[in-house]
Amino acid sequence: MTDLIFAATCDLAGKVRGKAFPSVQLDKRLARGVGWTPTNVQINCFDGIADSPFGALGDLLLIPDQTTSVSANFGTRTERFMLGDIVDLDGATWDFCTRSLLKSALARLEKVGGVQLLAAFEHEFQLKGKIRYSGDSYGRAGFEAQRGLCEMLMAQITAAGLSPDSIMKEYGPNQYEVVIDPEKGVRAADAAVIVRELTRSTARHLGEAVTYTPILDPASVGNGVHIHISFLNPDGAPATYDAKGPCGMSALTASFAAGVLKYLDSILALTAPSVVSYLRLTPHRWSAAYNSLGLRDREASLRVCPVTAKDPASIARQFNIEYRASDAAACPHLALAAILHAGIQGIEEGLSAPTPAEEDLSLLSPEDLAARGFIRLPETLEASLERFSENATVRGWFPNAFADVYLAHKASEIAHVAEMDVPAQCAAYAETY
Ligand code: GLU
Ligand code: MG
Repeated sequence: MTDLIFAATCDLAGKVRGKAFPSVQLDKRLARGVGWTPTNVQINCFDGIADSPFGALGDLLLIPDQTTSVSANFGTRTERFMLGDIVDLDGATWDFCTRSLLKSALARLEKVGGVQLLAAFEHEFQLKGKIRYSGDSYGRAGFEAQRGLCEMLMAQITAAGLSPDSIMKEYGPNQYEVVIDPEKGVRAADAAVIVRELTRSTARHLGEAVTYTPILDPASVGNGVHIHISFLNPDGAPATYDAKGPCGMSALTASFAAGVLKYLDSILALTAPSVVSYLRLTPHRWSAAYNSLGLRDREASLRVCPVTAKDPASIARQFNIEYRASDAAACPHLALAAILHAGIQGIEEGLSAPTPAEEDLSLLSPEDLAARGFIRLPETLEASLERFSENATVRGWFPNAFADVYLAHKASEIAHVAEMDVPAQCAAYAETY
């Protein structure tokens, strides 16, 4: 047997794609990568190919980054993979490399805000197949029935150099949630990809199948990806909290939060990027339907999270804001890049702190919502893409060609499911994510 390492990118479709090479070639591959094709960026989540400006032309390199190395030992087999960056043959960053897009957002955060990012992804997923543990929200029976999967997954997460926080049987039928500790910068998004892949691998090893689809059954709850964000000063001191600030937010956090909410409708196409994402983003599902800040409110798009610490230094370290309008159809790097750019834009514009909503916004008329500065978020992927497309500021955060390629990519995905009814759409997404 030849040990193989899979060099991978998490692409515009949020899919992990790449090529494997024998592990004895590692040094060479870390320097020169594996060959990659520009038009691959237009492979949608259903394997259709969208209109591509590249056609059959061009060559790229996918260079694995050893800091992302995963070697998941399942006894009978070891799955090795690494995430990497896509560059052209001269070594220049490729405009559609999601990891590089995040790195450029992080550089802007450092330049404009003078801070580093610390982020943790909280993931919900469901076991596929017949509903087994109904009537068991947060229950022990459903947890115990999958203790093997939960323990093996946590062990694999640890072996990958990440730090598991908790795992549970979530509210929905067959639904589980896995949470890891925060990581700095690009590693936070790498970690999200690694957790998703390890969940799938662990389940496969145990003869189970899981899905990270945004929503499996419109009559029930969705699978959210909640992104917890905090900031560190260059000396490593926490910069997110101010005891005297609005809802405990530092001035930097307050402007960042205001930016995220101001641009939320235009970045949603990047953080909730599937057709069925919009079945999840409806009121009373504990997801996100309005551009609102919430103080510990799980219906808010952006939530100021509770802290359990009592002393000021620990409170400052724990304090974070949580972006809830995202799901696992989104590439974590791309979603995080979009959220960061929106927040940084808020810092640049000197926006003042948003006021938290403290009521059920679905009861307000559009006029009352508007009077309070709130909007109902786009209700379809098409509407969401239109906001993205129309917003010159948001398009400007990305390389020139990015928006048009992304819009064509998503148009082909929409076309793929256009003739399906909702249950068939949900089934198609459950299959691919
Ligand atoms: N399932 C909900 C979502 O779609 C989140 C539930 C929770 O607060 O954990 O985001
Ligand atoms: Mg949850």
